Amino acid sequence: MKEFNYVIIGGGCAGLSLAYELEINNKLKDKTLAIIETRDEYKRDKTWSFWKVFDHNFNDCVIKSWSNFTINTSESSHELTNKKFPYQSIDSGKFYKKINSKLSANSNVSFFKNLNEIKSENSIIFNSVFEKEPDKSELWQHFQGIEIETPKNIFDEGIINLMDFNCDQRKDVHFFYTLPFSKNKALIETTWLSDLEDQSLRDYDLQLENYIENNLGIKNYKINFTEKGAIPLFSPTLRNNNNIINIGSAGGMTRLSTGYTFLNIQEHSRYIVKNIDNITEAKIFSLGKKYQFLDKVFLKVLEKYPEKMPKIFFNMFKTSSNTIIKFLSNKSNVIEDINIIRKMPKLIFLKALFN
Ligand SMILES: Cc1cc2nc3c(=O)[nH]c(=O)nc-3n(C[C@H](O)[C@H](O)[C@H](O)COP(=O)(O)OP(=O)(O)OC[C@H]3O[C@@H](n4cnc5c(N)ncnc54)[C@H](O)[C@@H]3O)c2cc1C
Repeated sequence: MKEFNYVIIGGGCAGLSLAYELEINNKLKDKTLAIIETRDEYKRDKTWSFWKVFDHNFNDCVIKSWSNFTINTSESSHELTNKKFPYQSIDSGKFYKKINSKLSANSNVSFFKNLNEIKSENSIIFNSVFEKEPDKSELWQHFQGIEIETPKNIFDEGIINLMDFNCDQRKDVHFFYTLPFSKNKALIETTWLSDLEDQSLRDYDLQLENYIENNLGIKNYKINFTEKGAIPLFSPTLRNNNNIINIGSAGGMTRLSTGYTFLNIQEHSRYIVKNIDNITEAKIFSLGKKYQFLDKVFLKVLEKYPEKMPKIFFNMFKTSSNTIIKFLSNKSNVIEDINIIRKMPKLIFLKALFN
């Protein structure tokens, strides 16, 4: 059986981002890489969106960038503008194509379906697959999005609706998210923050149908693309082995209060490549203890007081756009953190903290 210097388990967002970063930094010229991936074909399956707080390798995969966003509750709407850190959406289909065509030109890179097909005892392993089936009773961000196309121009393509809480909450936290890619094309998502036990929350088709008709007033449209997912809002069980480095969601790259992961994966990939020669000895990359602590308290409040969350999220955005974007992208300084914390209802956060 063949042996490789590096093995990446899971050729998804994190696995391919890392492979690409290794390739463009010439780290695969005299080293071999095996990517273990179970899927049969790569096609668009996700839309990755984030605030571009630093440059990344995938500008050519961006569907659209925006500088304006709103957040709504049933009572109010708040609009923010930020030209410095645009919100971007990436087409995963283009991302997979770009990376796979680059990697296929390097004979040192091979793909396999199963780890058993290679000898990996002496390899450095980067793992992006959850060790065990995550617990359904924990908190998840679960959602379904559809890209719709309308015969007439009806969307304001300059502004996204990040969170619209003007919808049925059903004792959990629920909002809609609208990304207008053009005047007649938009991705609309129904998103829940809850455990996965309650099957009744998963009538996503119906939720989207009602929202599009009743809230957006759109009757005539066709669906171009559907994406569905569940992002765990709890820390993964990390594989405890010196030769295994966890990456992606399995490596703790998801910001637990928001589900944002894409840009953290890019930062982690850069860190790994920078330290590749002694990566098994290097400090484990993390999003930072500060955010881990703040998110833990935030999620405790969310679990205990779901009915208060629309207002809490809304108030969080009542600060400067730089502050909220940097906070949600793990790039805030102490002053910015304090500004966000000041917007939170003190008593229930203190209760959650000491509970
Ligand atoms: C639909 C959806 C939309 C999202 N949107 C956003 C967003 O807008 N912004 C954002 O920041 N984050 C978003 N996320 C969260 C996160 O960015 C993505 O989940 C991202 O794909 C995580 O990358 P990953 O490499 O950890 O996991 P994945 O991309 O899921 O990669 C894991 C790979 O492992 C493969 N695999 C599974 N089991 C095995 C096995 N046993 N052996 C080998 N391979 C295996 C899978 O086929 C997959 O290709 C979204 C998630 C989903 C599901």
